[in-house]
Amino acid sequence: MPLRSPLLLPPSFVPPYLLDRLAERASAHASARAAQTLLIDREHRGLREAMAAQGVSSGLAPRYVRHDSPARAIHDAEHTMSLPGRLVRAEQQAATGDIAADEAYDYLGATYRLYHDIYERDSIDGAGMPLAGSVHYGNDYDNAFWNGRQMVFGDGDGEVMNRFTIAVDIIGHELTHGVIDHESGLVYEGQSGALNESICDVFGALVKQHLLKQTAQQADWLVGAGLFTGKVKARALRSMAEPGTAYDDPVLGKDPQPAHMKDFVVTRQDNGGVHINSGIPNRAFYLAATAIPGLAWETAGRVWYDTVCDRRLRKDADFAAFAQLSVEIAAQRFGADSAAHKAVGAAWNTVGVTAS
Ligand SMILES: [Zn+2]
Repeated sequence: MPLRSPLLLPPSFVPPYLLDRLAERASAHASARAAQTLLIDREHRGLREAMAAQGVSSGLAPRYVRHDSPARAIHDAEHTMSLPGRLVRAEQQAATGDIAADEAYDYLGATYRLYHDIYERDSIDGAGMPLAGSVHYGNDYDNAFWNGRQMVFGDGDGEVMNRFTIAVDIIGHELTHGVIDHESGLVYEGQSGALNESICDVFGALVKQHLLKQTAQQADWLVGAGLFTGKVKARALRSMAEPGTAYDDPVLGKDPQPAHMKDFVVTRQDNGGVHINSGIPNRAFYLAATAIPGLAWETAGRVWYDTVCDRRLRKDADFAAFAQLSVEIAAQRFGADSAAHKAVGAAWNTVGVTAS
């Protein structure tokens, strides 16, 4: 039996243990903002997302028109928690001059382009679902999340954390939670939850690399670079290349991610360590992607995408089950003698995950 967390939290970008730390140790302003963010995440968002999820699964969702371009709508929540807020930029409209609104528009577009142009997927549901986002949610809210229907971005406290639209991979990460919900639906707890988190980091990184036209070798493999201000010692929220090294700071503490199965963290916090143990499959992806010269989204990314969409992937898959399926898929798509097949198998071995 997996350890049950005291409270299962829906996905959000900044994990609860980091906000707990900020609430305890940051200066008065940042501490108050972190505490308020935790309150919203624990008491309000759970209910909201349960309602949104019902909408997704009810079969009553509207049928969208399929396009070769996104249908974006950016709203301004005007520092309230009512969603979506006032529409400030619809698809094809000019920039607003509000940097958060314009980044949200551009990066929702970048995420759409990776999924559409590379994986032939029309939006989150594969059926042209409009991409809605709300910026300026709450009062200096220290998080971002996908609620089943739209993206929501806080402004950050401005002291420890910047605005949440600042990094394209944050948006790629959050929208990928939506993609997973429409595919394997990996349960957000324990190893399947850590896989869910890791897959969101993987496609967040690929959205960024695709936007910047970077090879696997050129990429920084950081998740959320730019989110932290210069006042804390943090390169990013996570490092896929070197899990456990993204930050080390008196206020934030030290990045708790393991990079190998031998250091797997058993905990009741964070839905059973979903943002912690994701370091292990993150590093496996990084190793596979960088072992193959060129563009990560074409080879390792294609293998991961096919694995996420494969009906054989169970909701409660553990690392070994995902590893096994990804190795099989790499052989099917690229050939048993291919560099991709060898790289994927070797990557899982290196992080101590034995394909089951
Ligand atoms: Zn997440």
